[in-house]
Amino acid sequence: MSKENIKKVMSQFDPLSRDLIEDACEKAMKVTGEKGAQHKMMVWNGILRRFGPYVDEGVKSARKFGSDEYSEFKDGMREFLGVDGVGVVLCSDGRVLPMSVVDYGVAKISKRPGGIPETRRSTGPEGKRVLCDPEIKGHLAYTIEKSLREKGKEPVMVQFIGPHFNSENPVHGCGAAKIEATSRGRPAVTAMRLGAVSDFFERFDGHDAFDNTIKRHGGLNKTFSMAHDIKDQSLTFGLKEVYDRAKSEGRNMFDEYKTLPENLVELNMKGNILMTSGLDKKFVGDIDKFARARGLEKFLQIRNPDFIDSNIIHIGSIARQLTEKAGLDWMPGHLIEGLSDEQVRVFAYHALRNVVYRKLGNIKPNNHDLIDHPEELIRVGPIGAAHNVRTIPFIESTSGTLNSKDVEGVKALYGLSGDIYPNNGIDLRYEGRVIVVTGKYSGARHLDERREIWGVESETRTNVACLRREFDEGVRNGETIIMGVIYDEKTKLPIKVV
Ligand SMILES: [Zn+2]
Repeated sequence: MSKENIKKVMSQFDPLSRDLIEDACEKAMKVTGEKGAQHKMMVWNGILRRFGPYVDEGVKSARKFGSDEYSEFKDGMREFLGVDGVGVVLCSDGRVLPMSVVDYGVAKISKRPGGIPETRRSTGPEGKRVLCDPEIKGHLAYTIEKSLREKGKEPVMVQFIGPHFNSENPVHGCGAAKIEATSRGRPAVTAMRLGAVSDFFERFDGHDAFDNTIKRHGGLNKTFSMAHDIKDQSLTFGLKEVYDRAKSEGRNMFDEYKTLPENLVELNMKGNILMTSGLDKKFVGDIDKFARARGLEKFLQIRNPDFIDSNIIHIGSIARQLTEKAGLDWMPGHLIEGLSDEQVRVFAYHALRNVVYRKLGNIKPNNHDLIDHPEELIRVGPIGAAHNVRTIPFIESTSGTLNSKDVEGVKALYGLSGDIYPNNGIDLRYEGRVIVVTGKYSGARHLDERREIWGVESETRTNVACLRREFDEGVRNGETIIMGVIYDEKTKLPIKVV
């Protein structure tokens, strides 16, 4: 890139992003030392072309999400939903766009490879499954304590967890599931034929871990099984119940002689599961009417970060109107049995929100721009630009010092990235692959601010050093660029590069 070009690219960034990019570059050069022009170019290209746009999109979005208008929307939505917390675990896969599932700031998103958080058997006499994922557990405990303190009643929560697949082209479904399903010798064409959905439930025996962990802390929770389909970004609820029933009857959850879409449609027709793609026809008229009333005449530009806040407000507001109007008869009774009104509302809202999202965003089956992997870099840590719609990272959510499972996750994503980046215009001969390690500064909660930021900085540096050791050859060659960035938990803005 010529000096003129660099200047032009840099001028489009927010001043805060510009400072961080320059700092990141200087620090990355220091690590690798002076290795000549080729090496310098690899580092500079990676930082300017991937880290730069990633950080900048996050900065601009954070400023939008911090606006009075967005805050008002977020607070109103939380009040409407009426529960104390909504959580969703999604795969690290960038094709599973958070915006297709939840509103920013209304639900908490955690990204884990394959959509599977870590659980364990409790040491108590009953040996129940509990969460041992520090990031999710910490957040749940904090939310519950806050609700108990402020409202003085049992906090009510909802979680959405499940696999993702591409029903039309199952081999191109979840990468993490594919690695697992083929690791014992099966070829991908057979191992992935039915989306490896039953493998997910077989591997993830912690479906009730959220309920148990939340109960321990004094709250009440409902976990919905929610699968995401890359084909059209639709959602399917209730597959866990289908799996459980089949297992208790000693058979497979799907008819092996039918394709994945055939199986899903049949289960949906019988009311065993709920596919949001099956709701389109029923609600399209109302969605059109509500959209016109909001002055929407064209489709939303879902991948344009300039409109991220207004897009979410449109989608959420229309989904809320729809939820208020839709009644209950469209939901399979067994999925909402025994739940509080608030929990049912959260479920109804998120199912309908996905219908609105796909309709307003003009997401057509097999024909939308997230059908192929969009990722351009990897982000590891508890915070970062998780809601980016243009510069999309692989995300490994972690908390505290990286453990061996975190490192394993990053290595798997890094391996995957080598196949994917070249399809996204990244020439790995001229550009290093970027891994951003984040640290969360939450000074406002603590009295001794300075000590807190030192703690986060040193922890982030430790994590950066740990990954640099893992990828030492790449780091030496400028092929792997690993840097730490501290984010402010309150504003969601990056503070500094370490
Ligand atoms: Zn996946």
